[in-house]
Amino acid sequence: MAGAVEERERQVSWHYADCRYCGGNVKESKVPRDVWRNGRLLVIEDVPTGVCCQCGEKYVRPEVAKAIDHLLETTQSAPRTIKVDVYALPELEKDAA
Ligand SMILES: [Zn+2]
Repeated sequence: MAGAVEERERQVSWHYADCRYCGGNVKESKVPRDVWRNGRLLVIEDVPTGVCCQCGEKYVRPEVAKAIDHLLETTQSAPRTIKVDVYALPELEKDAA
């Protein structure tokens, strides 16, 4: 898959605009991304993502989002499965804090 390697190198050098929320510097790194599909939580690892160094806001380029869509549409089963803890936040009391 020589094409995949070239694609990866191109993505690492991608330049992002400054963070739209805090104006911080956005740098690309590979982070896990969680997506909901058909009521199921899925995790994709090593997603090239622009991460704001100040507030941590994440930016995913359209072609990366498209690649994730393609992966999920063309892959029958995930290579591995993890358990996820699910919590329910109790109703907040108005006079608290
Ligand atoms: Zn930011």
